[in-house]
Amino acid sequence: MNEISGFNLAVRHHPALVAEAETAEDVAEAIAHAASHDLPVAVQATGHGAVEPADGAVLILTSRMRSLTVDPVERTATVGAGCTWAEVVQAAAPFGLAPLCGSASGVGAVGFTLGGGVGPLARTYGFAADHVRALTVVTPDGVVRVADPGSEPDLFWALRGGKGGFGVVTSLTVDLFPLATVWGGGFYYAAADAAAVLRAYAAWAPGLPETLTTSLAFLRLPPLPQLPPPLRGQFVAHLRVAAATPQEALLAPMLGVAEPVLGGVGELPYTQLDRIHNDPTDPMPVIERSTLLRELTPEGVEALLAVAGPSLELPVPVVELRQLGGALAREPKEPNAVGGRDGAFSLLVVGLPGSAPDAVTAAMAPWSTGGSLINFHGSDLATLHRAWPEATRRRLTEIRNQIDPGNLFRIGHAAPR
Ligand SMILES: Cc1cc2nc3c(=O)[nH]c(=O)nc-3n(C[C@H](O)[C@H](O)[C@H](O)COP(=O)(O)OP(=O)(O)OC[C@H]3O[C@@H](n4cnc5c(N)ncnc54)[C@H](O)[C@@H]3O)c2cc1C
Repeated sequence: MNEISGFNLAVRHHPALVAEAETAEDVAEAIAHAASHDLPVAVQATGHGAVEPADGAVLILTSRMRSLTVDPVERTATVGAGCTWAEVVQAAAPFGLAPLCGSASGVGAVGFTLGGGVGPLARTYGFAADHVRALTVVTPDGVVRVADPGSEPDLFWALRGGKGGFGVVTSLTVDLFPLATVWGGGFYYAAADAAAVLRAYAAWAPGLPETLTTSLAFLRLPPLPQLPPPLRGQFVAHLRVAAATPQEALLAPMLGVAEPVLGGVGELPYTQLDRIHNDPTDPMPVIERSTLLRELTPEGVEALLAVAGPSLELPVPVVELRQLGGALAREPKEPNAVGGRDGAFSLLVVGLPGSAPDAVTAAMAPWSTGGSLINFHGSDLATLHRAWPEATRRRLTEIRNQIDPGNLFRIGHAAPR
């Protein structure tokens, strides 16, 4: 592995040039080089969201742009393009503050937030992009711009949820929340109980208040020695719950369904938020597909069990439902380009190379809104338009046409033109 191979090992870049940027000026120089040689530009921080090889492109690596300041009075963090969420969480924790990070803190804070960003507490606080105060971006013309509610209104709207295609964000300022701790955890259930757990989850989750955020995943775990024996090489259903304050009583309907093989809930320092989802931390080759469900009916549950349940041997390590709704369904005070506010659940299917994750999303089409969350959309680039409602996508395209007339930023998750 080298510096240009990211988290998703299935995407291998063969760029014309790699620019390891340290400053906005480095970024502008790399963009100018690309423009003068008629090459596309690709951006990478951690590679967690690599979906298309940056072949023949100028690949701008942001991993050296690690400036990070916390303002405990304003309750904000200003985060360089190369920072992971783990760094932001660590920097904010001494002040009893925390950012709206995702389930795995190794993910890049900027890439995550540009794509909306759904964290373990998302139903309570909304998308990470709903809490961005300002962004500094080098646009495709090489100009460094600050986008905030008072300047560059189109860019400010588009960068919060529109993801790629508008330039290279060198830093952003996000709200921090007074969350020294979080309440939550996960329960792992054996394959024999997975169907009952999914059926109970589908009946339970829609009635929950937005103080609780939940997720249920079917995991086909590898036989790795570092996994505890009940999980090693096993199919398990993993129920995850998270909240700002203890919500034990809400769990009662799930606790009687089956005896977990492992897990529990409790209060955790926010710095240990990763323990709730326990996402993989080692790079692996994957193909991701995703769709938004408007509801999870009993028929939908049986369809999901038929295509991805424990009786099947599939090279699909993760089939994950994340419950949406609550604050995720509401436009923020400063409207933005985040799509998928109408979904009840996000379904993410993570397959190994050679697998057919599309089979799972296709089976759930009768319950789908037709949309997806851009951060989970994966490499199905022909259907990228699904990640935004029609009017949002049209405005994103108009802004892209203005800001990037040469279509330099066409690689990966950029709003279609
Ligand atoms: C294990 C794992 C857990 C995850 N958990 C969550 C989760 O809880 N919630 C969620 O919403 N998503 C989650 N994701 C998805 C993740 O948010 C996206 O893949 C995101 O794009 C990763 O950003 P990155 O910068 O780390 O990745 P990269 O691959 O480095 O970047 C991905 C894309 O982001 C854009 N980008 C990144 N940096 C910049 C920049 N400085 N300027 C302009 N564009 C930029 C580019 O389009 C780039 O191609 C997860 C992914 C993984 C693999």
